[in-house]
Amino acid sequence: MNMPIRLGISRCLLGEPVRFDGGHKRDAFLVDMLGRHVEWVPVCPEVEIGLGTPRESLRLEGSLPFPRLITINTGHDHTQHMEAFSKRRLQELNSVGLCGFVFKKNSPSCGLERVRVYNRHGMPNRNGTGLFAQAFRQSFPLLPVEEEGRLLDLSLRENFIARVFGYQRWREFMLTEPDASAMIQFHTRHKYLLLSHSRKHYERLGRLVASAARYTPTGLVVRYGLDFVEALTVKATVRKHTDVLQHIVGHLKEILTASERTELAVVIEDYRNRLVPLVAPLVLLKHFIESYHVTYLKDQVYFDPYPKEFMLRSHVPS
Ligand code: SF4
Repeated sequence: MNMPIRLGISRCLLGEPVRFDGGHKRDAFLVDMLGRHVEWVPVCPEVEIGLGTPRESLRLEGSLPFPRLITINTGHDHTQHMEAFSKRRLQELNSVGLCGFVFKKNSPSCGLERVRVYNRHGMPNRNGTGLFAQAFRQSFPLLPVEEEGRLLDLSLRENFIARVFGYQRWREFMLTEPDASAMIQFHTRHKYLLLSHSRKHYERLGRLVASAARYTPTGLVVRYGLDFVEALTVKATVRKHTDVLQHIVGHLKEILTASERTELAVVIEDYRNRLVPLVAPLVLLKHFIESYHVTYLKDQVYFDPYPKEFMLRSHVPS
């Protein structure tokens, strides 16, 4: 990849003291790990609408679909202000080329889900979304979004990182104004990655590419992109990875010796039984693919969908 990966982020997660109490919520994984691979585009909606730091804290009140953003003690309504700001800021973000956004959980401005919305009796309903996050999702429905709290779960973290890097590859590919043959190459390189997420999407995209002649180059690429991005939102599982690993072994079966095949079968079975991490069969497969120069498999994005420093395939699945 040549272009920087730009991710939006709730500014307080970077350690900047912009919270209502003058504090921050620095997130070590985001700053110290993900931050080495992406360019952050920080946004603090509350500071950017002119509320100072420290400031009176806000909460969502009213109905779930149309909550108001209200200061807790003095009852000032900042909804209109926030909506106008969101419209303007999202237009700016549209020109930045974002590949995703990491939001601060529970915030009435930034929280993506389970944000409290208080009814007129002061009772909270925990199914709300922060006003800025809501507007963001409506403007950029295809972009990967997550909250920092959910990224503590390794399977959700893996899914988010895979989506961000997948989105970036897709974006770069689009910018090359590809023809049908480039589209087929892109699909071929992503076959096993797609299969590890969703067989349904994998098959649908295969059919689309096979009927490329029916579409204009732009029409084909756009249709492909919608399904490609959606496919990566489906979580990869141990069962799906095992299926992919066995497919790859099938490609190698005429090349490998009997003892190499046995060695692979044992490590894949250990992975299926959650005794070893995914990286164990992958390392062995990569070794054989390199040794026997199997170009088709060597080019599969599945083996390196994101930088290995994330170590997202190095834990034994639970
Ligand atoms: S949660 Fe959002 S609005 Fe609140 S301090 Fe962080 S960036 Fe600002």
